Amino acid sequence: MVSAKADIPLDTILVGVGTSPGIAIGESFSLHRSRMAAVPVQIHPDEIPSEIEQFCTAIQESKNQLLDVRDSVTDQRLIDHLYIIDTHLLILEDDALVMETIRTIEEKRINAAGALQLTIQKFQKIFDGIEDEYLRERRSDVDAVGDRIQYNLAGEVRASLKDIDRKVIVVAHDLSPADTLQIDREKVIAFVTDVGGRTSHTSILARSLGIPAIVGLESVTTLVPRGVPIIVDGTNGNLILNPSDVTFQEYLIKKQEYEYQTDSLLAYRELQAVTLDGFKVRLNSNIEMSHDVEVAKEHGAQGVGLLRSEFLYLARTTPPDEEEQYQFYRSVIEAMAPDPVTIRTLDVGGDKFAADINLTDEANPVMGLRAIRFSLKERTLFTVQLRAILRAAKHGRTQIMFPMVTGVEETRDCLACLNEARQQLLAEGIPIAEKLPIGLMIETPSAALVADLLAKEVDFFSIGTNDLIQYCLAVDRGNEHVAYLYNPLHPAVLRSLKFICDAANKENIPVSMCGEMASDPFYTSVLIGLGINELSMSPLAIPRVKRVLRALDRSDGVDLLKKLMSFATVSEVTHYLEREMSGKMSDLFAPLEL
Ligand code: PEP
Ligand code: MG
Repeated sequence: MVSAKADIPLDTILVGVGTSPGIAIGESFSLHRSRMAAVPVQIHPDEIPSEIEQFCTAIQESKNQLLDVRDSVTDQRLIDHLYIIDTHLLILEDDALVMETIRTIEEKRINAAGALQLTIQKFQKIFDGIEDEYLRERRSDVDAVGDRIQYNLAGEVRASLKDIDRKVIVVAHDLSPADTLQIDREKVIAFVTDVGGRTSHTSILARSLGIPAIVGLESVTTLVPRGVPIIVDGTNGNLILNPSDVTFQEYLIKKQEYEYQTDSLLAYRELQAVTLDGFKVRLNSNIEMSHDVEVAKEHGAQGVGLLRSEFLYLARTTPPDEEEQYQFYRSVIEAMAPDPVTIRTLDVGGDKFAADINLTDEANPVMGLRAIRFSLKERTLFTVQLRAILRAAKHGRTQIMFPMVTGVEETRDCLACLNEARQQLLAEGIPIAEKLPIGLMIETPSAALVADLLAKEVDFFSIGTNDLIQYCLAVDRGNEHVAYLYNPLHPAVLRSLKFICDAANKENIPVSMCGEMASDPFYTSVLIGLGINELSMSPLAIPRVKRVLRALDRSDGVDLLKKLMSFATVSEVTHYLEREMSGKMSDLFAPLEL
């Protein structure tokens, strides 16, 4: 332990992606669990039956282990996430995994571990082609299941979080969601990993548990052995190794401040989301699963502004039927009542994960058959979803919106499909909602440029800044090499937002924002300056945004926006906004270092 500490220079900083905010100070516990590298080996035909048998046994052992994890979870916050174990169990039962591997063993005469490796690689290729960041990261579920089977095939015992007997910060290459479910919050005060992204299940769970976490540190497992003093700043993504006394004291104070702020922020749950000069903003939650509704309510969400319906289509070989979708939407709508729920129709190429549809390898999937383009091509699938939404909407305030629309034709096409689904249900005597506000996600430059025309066609807009920024600036939102160009304060983005809001305003339709820009309090003054009175974000972000909102004046936001729009460069805009925000709330926004 002492030598490990001595080898690392004082105050060494590693930078990753902070996926769960907060500060933890403690000792590293490296969970050595390298990925099993399985090499495909040619086998003799006589060995085929025994390889298949070993594979089936490993599958069964994997299932038993996951069922054990499921039975051992008692923490209420984790119980809500047990669906992850179910997802892994589903993957273990998936024919595309099991039968494909057995076929490879039989037909290519390859050992079980090698055959499994080939199957997993095939899955990985499919996932890598998915444009949607969240769905792409579901690849980690397949990887986790693959690793589990490989360990069982090799008869190896995986290092476990259950072995931890004191307060530590876990350092791992990756943590599977099943690992995360075994975390004892009394012992694991934070974790850091080599791989992962903001929206991996593991990150989502860390946020849910309120444990600081940094992912994507690349080589933290090779740099940090067990027993090193470390500081995790999950808010900024900084990992400090071997901190000096000065740094230690500095972070101790930061930690206390953060905890004080977080505790006091919960008091905001009951308070109105309104500016000092009376501009009310509805703060909604983005959700993926029905149990997210509870977290949303705990944090004072006034509705669901974005239900990412594609989550229902995940980790399965066939899409959910009308009844299953109806029950799911209905459960969310009823749980959220009397507050409204906005359901977004499928936002992904269904061929990317539904095994019964032919795979199309697209050269440029971001510009390809995704979101509404896919739905309008696969009309039967689309109609099933529209029917389910129309039926569910009968049970509470519901809105529907369409993703990635680029113009009026597509919009009208969507409206026609919705109307057709409505007529079908009426003819069948099935009860449906009388009123269902229809909206568009404005997330392509073309939609932004014709926002004045689109505003005449629908009841509301919701701005998807995650995509709008990527398409507007031609910057892949998932590519770290061009991440420095991805900026909500680019004058082109501000102009687009202004044009969209003015167009909506002119037609008197509400405009909300559900992209990540809405969840960052740094931008709140800009958004109210634009007149956006509905923001949708991950539930944990709500109290902080509300706090900032309550300290702002809408009229100042209008003046600020005018000033920001007069600048020519991103850095001028950013510096001006930084100065404004740190001047107003120095405890939340660090003053400028001059
Ligand atoms: C967006 O693009 O801003 C958005 C909210 O949708 P998603 O992140 O699911 O693409
Ligand atoms: Mg989007």
